[in-house]
Amino acid sequence: MIYSACFDIGGTYIKYGVVTGEGEILLAGKMETPLDHAQTSIPEMIDEKIQFFKQHYLIGNIGISSCGLVDHQEGKVIFSSNIKGYSGLKLAEVLHKKTGLSVSVENDVRSACLGEMWLGAASGKQEVVLLTLGTGIGGAVVINGKLMRGSANLAGELGHMSIMHNGESCPCGGAGCLERYASTSALVRFYKGLSGQELSGKEMMDLVHKNDLLALEAYDLFLEHLVTGLVNIAHLYNPEIIIIGGGITEQGEVFLKDILEKYDKKVMQVYKQSTKLVLAQLHNDAALCGAYVAANQLIK
Ligand SMILES: [Zn+2]
Repeated sequence: MIYSACFDIGGTYIKYGVVTGEGEILLAGKMETPLDHAQTSIPEMIDEKIQFFKQHYLIGNIGISSCGLVDHQEGKVIFSSNIKGYSGLKLAEVLHKKTGLSVSVENDVRSACLGEMWLGAASGKQEVVLLTLGTGIGGAVVINGKLMRGSANLAGELGHMSIMHNGESCPCGGAGCLERYASTSALVRFYKGLSGQELSGKEMMDLVHKNDLLALEAYDLFLEHLVTGLVNIAHLYNPEIIIIGGGITEQGEVFLKDILEKYDKKVMQVYKQSTKLVLAQLHNDAALCGAYVAANQLIK
């Protein structure tokens, strides 16, 4: 069995663990993402952790899931707005030099999608889309069992599909992007616009469940936009499933039911049977499991 040293590099934390062929995560933990000198400090921190892993297990390779735009073939971070000075880092090359091990680097949403295909909501599926709802919206598209990468590794940025030509401006430079209307931060913003109060996503959903009228109005608006995005995705790719991930999915089946009520009315009838909506299953472990999948090429 191959043990892989896996890391999930985010804007706040770097999560890690030794992942086994059964998807077990051993010696799991997290360390704070360094604020400075990312190009040297991140590889050093990862290398140190690998030396520690090696004292306990025979490590076969390294799997990295990373925020930002990633060139998987080159093992390079193309661009990241979350970590200062991180863009351009040839992470695979640097880590290979330090450890002598082969290194795979994959984008975090794509990694999460691979994780869900291996052990979670998309197990056994070949046509899959993952949409993660958080501060923004991330996307990954799998066609015929393979991640769709595009001509320059930029495919699948579903959060930046425009659903309103003259809509709100987005940090990407565009306007009316889905993530301006259907992310958790959009839900919080809608409620603030109605009530003047700024709540967390969790507090907001608590109010929804208490039938607070303004919270319900904001939630309904958020759902309408989310479903617009989901219907577009269904019509574009006709996947077997669209997995919805992100913290808000911890609301569970009630959340899915609210989405389905609107989705079933808006999607073209012929898509209803073939494209199902499901919630993510692996939550926090998805990206680490996906990093293992990419490192061992279980799903390409
Ligand atoms: Zn955008």
